[in-house]
Amino acid sequence: MIHPTVLRKGNRVLSGPIRSSCFLPAFLLFFVFIVPLHAENPLPVRGLCVQAPSKRGLDRFVQFVDEQLAPRGLNTLVLRFDYNFEYESHPELRGRNPLSLDDVRKIVNVCREHEIQLIPQVNLLGHQSWAGSLGNLLRVYPQFDETPHVKMPQDYKWPNPDGLYCKSYCPLHPEVHTVVFDIVDEIVATCQATAFHAGMDEVFYIGDDKCPRCRDQDKGELFADEVTRIRDHLAKNDCKLWIWGDRLIDGKTTGLGMWEAATNGTHGAIGLIPKDVVICDWHYERASPTPVLFALNGFHVLTCPWNNPDVSMDHLEQMKWLRQHSNRKLAERFDGVLLTYWSGVDSLIDAYEGSEQASEGNRGAAESLKRLFPLAAEPDAPAQQDGQKN
Ligand SMILES: [Zn+2]
Repeated sequence: MIHPTVLRKGNRVLSGPIRSSCFLPAFLLFFVFIVPLHAENPLPVRGLCVQAPSKRGLDRFVQFVDEQLAPRGLNTLVLRFDYNFEYESHPELRGRNPLSLDDVRKIVNVCREHEIQLIPQVNLLGHQSWAGSLGNLLRVYPQFDETPHVKMPQDYKWPNPDGLYCKSYCPLHPEVHTVVFDIVDEIVATCQATAFHAGMDEVFYIGDDKCPRCRDQDKGELFADEVTRIRDHLAKNDCKLWIWGDRLIDGKTTGLGMWEAATNGTHGAIGLIPKDVVICDWHYERASPTPVLFALNGFHVLTCPWNNPDVSMDHLEQMKWLRQHSNRKLAERFDGVLLTYWSGVDSLIDAYEGSEQASEGNRGAAESLKRLFPLAAEPDAPAQQDGQKN
């Protein structure tokens, strides 16, 4: 989601009973009740996706949720834990100074108090390294590496001859799922979650020519099989799968390229994965109309901006327009907006609180948060209701 060099992620429903003397033809009833009902409800999902706090930043984060996010009407928090938790099932995968069970319970409690859906994220398949650092999964289990012949560089640069952006695990390794599903199950249970976000964005290494299991396999099928496997595992516990949408968009035909879409052949997966996977469709330079692609293919979709407030408001406006101008079946798939943030959550709170040290990008993200989800008392509030741009 972040490029390493560029840092580039009703009509009023009749409130009273219908008077018995008021006879309306059936078609008129349809327009009065059915169409406006879905058209003007608030977006079902109003969310933020951030890294889980550090142990030191935990209390500040909980306070931020309690005093700032909840009053703004946010109802969804995707929290990127990865290995920042004291996993009991695999202590060998714990990050440094990870959150404890009691720590996570504080987050669970504040979310429950405000009816915020807490969705944990652990990156599966891709994003198993970052710049020159290997992630915990491949550091502990190097045998899961899809491209073991690609060595981690001392001085990471992009582009590089290996095309190394992030490592992937091999989805056909016979033991990888026994490990990662333990992690998934534990963090889902700890968060008492009914949905899990598996990441799965920017997977550049898949079906590598040198992988004895994956070579010669269709990359779209490989990607779809992995999504389906994760989805089926979660479904046993009535848990939904959320993923980023970029690997399902044809980057060449759309011109969207290799980051926010796929140019490595995975986009064929869009016709192969279960329709109950929720798609988080991120675009940071403009509100591309790709939510339509997902909705027309039967998926629930969230549109995901980042740190450009004007683009963020375009995302919001587009989502509301799509809900207002689609038939009921399609409209119900345009679920809402998930604002993404790609630095430590402390830096978001700093920017939100007006720190002069905050970078321009972080200030933009904080501004996006405030404009997308204005407090009821703020002047932006009517804009959110009307879906109008500021
Ligand atoms: Zn493989």
